[in-house]
Amino acid sequence: MISPRLAFASLCLFLASIVTAATPKPVHVALIFDDGPDAAQTPKLLAVFAKQKVHVTFGTMGKNAEANPRLLKRVVAAGHEVVNHSYSHQQPKDLTGEALDAQVADGQRLITAAAGRAPVWYWPPYIAIDDRVRASVAKAGLRIYTPRKLVASGDYMTDVDAAEILRRATTGIEDGTVILFHEWRPETATQMKAVLKELKRQGCVFLTFSELAKYLGQ
Ligand SMILES: [Zn+2]
Repeated sequence: MISPRLAFASLCLFLASIVTAATPKPVHVALIFDDGPDAAQTPKLLAVFAKQKVHVTFGTMGKNAEANPRLLKRVVAAGHEVVNHSYSHQQPKDLTGEALDAQVADGQRLITAAAGRAPVWYWPPYIAIDDRVRASVAKAGLRIYTPRKLVASGDYMTDVDAAEILRRATTGIEDGTVILFHEWRPETATQMKAVLKELKRQGCVFLTFSELAKYLGQ
């Protein structure tokens, strides 16, 4: 026969295991959507985020901000963060110092004009960061966002299909991870509901770049 004391201890352990299982440690992540605004796909993404009550970050290009100012204002009004993803997505190695300065500064000027708010982060095309990029970004009064860990959905490669985008975007996620997507890929928008559902199942909470930087003390 089990003693009352042992039975009580077993019950406590059992209840503790339920509480532990019910409240997993939150995994703080930031989702970034690059190269927009995209007139066809960005509205679909905004609809999913509004329904799921999730805020993300948009890596906006200056020339696309100039072409879609109303859409960019909708992004900001919905509570998402907009960061500077250059004027026109050139590879920095192909540019003179002056042209590189212009990619950063023109991007900043046009995004600020269209969004009605100045980005505080530079998010480099191709995540190409060297001393020249750092110098141009510093000149523009910006900071480069450097992820603690980056997980790429692979959605910029057309041979990565919808199921693979979901798999890659939800694999190896740790506290502080930035998950990279592209606004122009239709499959990314159609998979976003499933991506968010799986990330929520893993205990993810969704922060913008600035919120994640604050949380990580960056
Ligand atoms: Zn890009």
